[in-house]
Amino acid sequence: MHIRKMTELNLTGKRVLIRSDLNVPIKNGIIQSEARILAALPTIKLAIEKNAKVIIMSHLGRPKEGCYTKKYSLLPIFEYLKKKLNNTKMYFSQNYLNDITLNSGEILMLENVRFNKGELSNSNKLSKEYSSLCDIFVMDAFGSAHRMQSSTYGIGEFVKIACAGPLLINEISALKKALKEPKRPMVAIVGGAKVSTKFNVLHKLSKIADTIIVGGGIANTFLAIDYKIGKSLHEPDFIPEAKKLRDKYNIITPIDSRVGKNFCKTEKSIIRLPSNIKKDEEIMDFGDETITKITNILKNSQTIIWNGPVGVFEFPHFRIGTEKIAKTIARSHAFSIAGGGDTLSVIDMFNIKDCISYISTGGGAFLEFIEGKKLPAIDMLEKNFKKIN
Ligand code: AMP
Repeated sequence: MHIRKMTELNLTGKRVLIRSDLNVPIKNGIIQSEARILAALPTIKLAIEKNAKVIIMSHLGRPKEGCYTKKYSLLPIFEYLKKKLNNTKMYFSQNYLNDITLNSGEILMLENVRFNKGELSNSNKLSKEYSSLCDIFVMDAFGSAHRMQSSTYGIGEFVKIACAGPLLINEISALKKALKEPKRPMVAIVGGAKVSTKFNVLHKLSKIADTIIVGGGIANTFLAIDYKIGKSLHEPDFIPEAKKLRDKYNIITPIDSRVGKNFCKTEKSIIRLPSNIKKDEEIMDFGDETITKITNILKNSQTIIWNGPVGVFEFPHFRIGTEKIAKTIARSHAFSIAGGGDTLSVIDMFNIKDCISYISTGGGAFLEFIEGKKLPAIDMLEKNFKKIN
């Protein structure tokens, strides 16, 4: 991977445009999780220390393109950053495509890039306009590195110098460390609800990991090979694929599960064997025997990759599997790497952020990297490197 790094460049007096991923959940103007902003902050601080004219850009949510919607404004994030960087002069701009004036050591934050027509379709016109805002483009948004859009990809074609920010570099190094020559035994846990998108990851991980633990809707799809699983979330189309994987690799499926009749917060759980699940019940968590089996496997592993909760952790009676697994990983001495939107919420919920070796800010990008796909942002950085060298 031949790419330029921001840390190697002289940024003094240069207009440095940093594409961060500040896409955090916001409710009524209040930030619900700061994780992505905190991860982006060191890169911004470093650019300021290097005396650059710093411009920050990001997307937020999924607004209708070409339309300003207050709900998706980056203004609350700007206010948050202002508090974190209280010695730095900071400005916010809604209309920035024509001109920017900024002094060295100052920051200009641009409004949500998804308000701009052409962002999602990677329009050349918009990419060119972005490129004219800067001397150096820093791609630091790992969470958006799998997107071929103007602010993550297209700009690289028109800007003179594009480089990778420290967060992007760290993310890729941590993932490479976990995937290439991992310390063994290596265990991967794949849970969550998006069954179809995660089967590609399962294929890849099956080849690398010594053991795969499946949870959530993915585990249910494996259970459906042999059992009637009532109204549990699963994807019938993927049952044959699940069988092939189970026959070939060491895939651990639940030996007992917590089930309920109603998908709601107050629902109480009953533990059932997979052969005993009733028509009107749905599996929403691991049972106690499964939890014991899995935590023992985790205690003996040296590398752990974790994506997705193993149950409906939002409901108090169905969070125990996810909680026990999260806390076992947190106590483990293994190199642990966790990623994916809901995995981060679980980490926040059990306050174990500091006990995981590496927490990825990427959801889709994390999964696509594991699948072995080349991320468009990396492709862009490699092309830009070649163009100049
Ligand atoms: P994902 O985005 O694919 O990682 O899925 C995360 C979501 O999966 C969370 O909101 C969980 O509540 C949900 N989930 C986990 N296990 C189950 C299950 N057995 N049935 C339904 N939803 C589940």
